[in-house]
Amino acid sequence: MPATVRPAQFFRSAAEVRPVRIQTARMKDGTRKRFLRRWPDRAQPLRHTFQTAFLLLNLWVGARFYMWVRYYETGGTSAFVERPPGVEGWLPIAALMNLKYWLMTGLVPDLHAAGMFLLIAFLAISILFRKAFCSWLCPIGTLSEWLWQGGRDAIGRTFALPRGVDIPLRGLKYVLLGLFGYVVVTMPPVEIRAFLDSPYGLVADVKMLDFFRRIGQATAVTVVVLVVSSVFVKNVWCRYLCPYGALLGLASLLSPTRIRRDAAACIDCDKCTKACPSLLPVARLASVRSPECTACLECVTVCPSAGALRFGTPRQPLQPWMVAAGIAVVFLGIVTYARLAGHWHSEVPDDVLFQLIPRAAEFGHP
Ligand code: SF4
Ligand code: SF4
Repeated sequence: MPATVRPAQFFRSAAEVRPVRIQTARMKDGTRKRFLRRWPDRAQPLRHTFQTAFLLLNLWVGARFYMWVRYYETGGTSAFVERPPGVEGWLPIAALMNLKYWLMTGLVPDLHAAGMFLLIAFLAISILFRKAFCSWLCPIGTLSEWLWQGGRDAIGRTFALPRGVDIPLRGLKYVLLGLFGYVVVTMPPVEIRAFLDSPYGLVADVKMLDFFRRIGQATAVTVVVLVVSSVFVKNVWCRYLCPYGALLGLASLLSPTRIRRDAAACIDCDKCTKACPSLLPVARLASVRSPECTACLECVTVCPSAGALRFGTPRQPLQPWMVAAGIAVVFLGIVTYARLAGHWHSEVPDDVLFQLIPRAAEFGHP
């Protein structure tokens, strides 16, 4: 029977000083290695709580925004609700344009500034906790995760594309980011203002709603293909196509935090590699530097050996609750600042909205 001990000197953080069991594992070279079984953590329930809360928040924002649009479409005969500025989180290109405008002029834009502050919050989260936005907050990431988990539960496995297909496809999201980035980078601030203050820019959020509400045949087919393929292949949209994730992945390269593996404590079981939703070879790496890492902590959760895997800086391992608290503080802190500073709401006169919103479909790119 394995002994129960308290070898406090083994641990680097007080949170891990608990009764542990010494076990023995067979290594790949046939030798046996003694290891201390890791105490289970609450990383995944915590992360799933964040995902569900953020998905519900987005559904609430979507429902409120739909009611707000209907008020203007019906000439003011339906119930009025305040426009939820959080809807601008779905306008990433306008957010990038506003960020450039702010950086170059020092002026916080009047229109769609909430989207810019959300982008700043998600960039800050990426710099602090790698691409945690994707696995802790993003509603598309959450739905993608549920799809492949449902597929795995139904058929017992998921599929990985061959390397020769996977690598070039992964580059697609950077190509899309490059196209959007090129437009923003080459646009002078005065043109950005003219674009965002045009009728098209004023109703960009309504056009985004129409994209989902009046979905065309080609878009519907694309969505169905993405949903069905996501049941069999992990995170198809996030892995191959999402330019927002690509941007946050590049920002995450600046992060001092990462998954680190201690070879002395590792027992070569490969559980971390098999669990990684981003298909990263965690068990072969000393630390995970890839921009694909979403700080989901799945690898840490499944690792049986105490101290073999940690997330954090070289000096400071971060417990899951610290990651969760950090994400919440950055997100709520930046949103609260934008609200208190009067930058959260876009003020557009009512008579302009009554004119433009019912005609949103008529406006093309200026
Ligand atoms: S390396 Fe770990 S934290 Fe990063 S994506 Fe893979 S499982 Fe998640
Ligand atoms: S780091 Fe990976 S391979 Fe090593 S013990 Fe943990 S799960 Fe197993």
